[in-house]
Amino acid sequence: MSEHPTIGDTLEQTVDRYPDRDAIIYPRKDQRWTYAEFDERVNRLANAFLEAGVEKGDRVATVLYNGSEMALTVYACAKIGAVFTPLNFRLPAGEIEYIVNDAGAELVVFESDTREAVEGARPSLETVGEYVFIDDDRDDTPAYASGFYDMLESGLPDRPGVSVAEDDVYAFIYTSGTTGRPKGVVHEHRNMVEHDLLCIAEMNLTRDDVGLSMMPLYHCAELHCNLFARVHRGAANVIHHEFEPGAVLEAIEDHGVTVLFAAPTAWNALSMAAAESAADVSSLRLGLYGAAPMPEQVLENCMEHLCEDYVQAYGMTEIGPAGVFQSADDQLSKQGSAGLPGLNHELRIVEPDADPDREVEPGAIGEILIASPCTMREYWNRPEATARSLREADGTTWYYTGDLGYRDDDGYLYVVDRKDDMIVSGGENVYPAEVEDVLFGHDAVEEAAVVGEPDEEWGELVVAYVVTDDAVGATDLDSFVLESDRLADFKRPRTYYFVDELPKNPSGKIQKFKLREDEADLESEAETVA
Ligand code: ATP
Ligand code: MG
Repeated sequence: MSEHPTIGDTLEQTVDRYPDRDAIIYPRKDQRWTYAEFDERVNRLANAFLEAGVEKGDRVATVLYNGSEMALTVYACAKIGAVFTPLNFRLPAGEIEYIVNDAGAELVVFESDTREAVEGARPSLETVGEYVFIDDDRDDTPAYASGFYDMLESGLPDRPGVSVAEDDVYAFIYTSGTTGRPKGVVHEHRNMVEHDLLCIAEMNLTRDDVGLSMMPLYHCAELHCNLFARVHRGAANVIHHEFEPGAVLEAIEDHGVTVLFAAPTAWNALSMAAAESAADVSSLRLGLYGAAPMPEQVLENCMEHLCEDYVQAYGMTEIGPAGVFQSADDQLSKQGSAGLPGLNHELRIVEPDADPDREVEPGAIGEILIASPCTMREYWNRPEATARSLREADGTTWYYTGDLGYRDDDGYLYVVDRKDDMIVSGGENVYPAEVEDVLFGHDAVEEAAVVGEPDEEWGELVVAYVVTDDAVGATDLDSFVLESDRLADFKRPRTYYFVDELPKNPSGKIQKFKLREDEADLESEAETVA
């Protein structure tokens, strides 16, 4: 190991310190491995990958639900300098084809739950030389694939003889594809080791913590903020194949889980299940959430039925993802805020797209910039997008988040909306999130997406796409908006499109660019208001 560890080194340090502590617990397959046992399996898989022809720098793609196999694969790649490339297990064949070809992956790991989609994509996967199948039922392994557990058995247990450096690429992590096609974020080992330390500190992780991974491990929030930070620290990791509230509550009791990460919608489901459940969840000491602020009511329910303390993280794939943290103490006093910059992070609000020194006043909305030791090296094969997002000033690299927000007088960040979603109508800025918030207050509105529509007179007009569960018309919604008295007239939607569903990416985020560019292929009924 050099003085600057790689992701593989972080595991080996933990093995050196705590060989006999629990590393991975995967109840679905009755697997329970200490750090020494986990590391030996990681070495076996890494050596088997080498045997299969994987070389340093080659991309290894996974199309996997959560499982011990995901944890083994990511550390095996790290130890041989292969570039871990996790794909969302919900992707249809066409999206798998896009990402695997974009990354130029050499090897694909998949399982029975993702087999159909992988097989659909397979004829078009140009670069893949090797398929590896999670061979639980060995008779079921497709003829063209190697068996994962066969490889684990045949690989040698010694540390693989590949030298990996801190500035080698550790992974291509694809963004969620909310604002366009997913982009491959190139992360180096050192970015992620820094990110481990950040998360360990912000969550006060100790070796006695027991985490549960139920959010998808293909996303960097679960993988980096949780699994990686805990492995580096020497804490235990319970892995759940999928999120199922009842099973999670039982697992908290069975394994004495102390820390848990979930998106606000999942916290909501979990707190409702906890209110009805007899499971003892008193071991839980901290909840982590991200992707969106937690509605106050949900936070209060969670505090009542799960645990008292919550930390929010704000960030994005490009910075690891966590960068700004709202601590447990600030949850109620700074409602709606994303918090303060994490350790070693700097935060600035500037005029959108302007130079990093064009800071705006506290309270004024601008683009959120972040400088961090965890920032990506680049977007894979997208020099223009990289140049737009990463800009140097006085020796500091600033990441332009594309999100809009402001800081209050105490420096707390409030995320307002995405820059590209902002509407300019008659010279006034409209932040769709604010309009959507009002619409959500109407009982019949299940989903809402507000976008700008080109207009000769006003530049853009505010329009709303809504999914409703009751018969309501545009005049009902318009009266509701007017009565709420929360929106200036230029923010009031002028046309409502009643639709059955909204275009979403596989993680459930609404893809507004499809609405704007009329790519959504929606059956809609439009009603205009005066
Ligand atoms: P793409 O970049 O492909 O369009 P994406 O931006 O949705 O997809 P992610 O990196 O998974 O992909 O998501 C990061 C985005 O999620 C942020 O830019 C921000 O808009 C939103 N976000 C993350 N955390 C928070 C939070 N705590 N509060 C509000 N918004 C958040
Ligand atoms: Mg993004």
